[in-house]
Amino acid sequence: MPVGVIKVARPAPTLAQRRPWLALLVGLWVATRHFFQSAFLFARGRQNFTVHFPEQRFLQPPAMRGMPVLVRMSNGKERCVACGLCEWACPTSCITIFPAETADGVERYPEVFDIDMSRCMFCGLCEEACPEEAIVMSRQVEIACYSRRGSLWHKEDLLVPRDQLQTRLDYLHRHYDA
Ligand code: SF4
Ligand code: SF4
Repeated sequence: MPVGVIKVARPAPTLAQRRPWLALLVGLWVATRHFFQSAFLFARGRQNFTVHFPEQRFLQPPAMRGMPVLVRMSNGKERCVACGLCEWACPTSCITIFPAETADGVERYPEVFDIDMSRCMFCGLCEEACPEEAIVMSRQVEIACYSRRGSLWHKEDLLVPRDQLQTRLDYLHRHYDA
């Protein structure tokens, strides 16, 4: 069977693509300009680029991913239905879920939902995989502990009321709508 050949019109290479050393010079110029601009702004006290942590906190944008937490609904229950998708999506296998059913056998819930924070890399794939908006990335990043056992967070530790996660949920809605 004859195969049609499609010729793709490629744009002519730019000057920087033809002379790679030019791109190097431009990069050096940008770095030098930023260096002197920063030094100048610092000297005038116009803008601080650092904060005195922990007395001062940096402004956390909604896109920031802290540790993953579980959404607690207004009735006090977790929103999670123990489908296991986040466990499957997690690249470091740090989520452990034991599903169970309610007494009437209608709903599923996680009897055990553990996250080993020593292995979590805050990638947010669990959040993306969840069909229920039941696990979201919080703004919590201060999770240091003194032992490996302390880095194992159980369901009761992970549950956060939904209204405290509203900023992140709004961000996710905007993100997915886009
Ligand atoms: S943020 Fe990434 S590494 Fe952490 S539990 Fe979720 S999927 Fe796993
Ligand atoms: S993907 Fe969502 S609903 Fe499914 S087990 Fe994970 S947190 Fe629960």
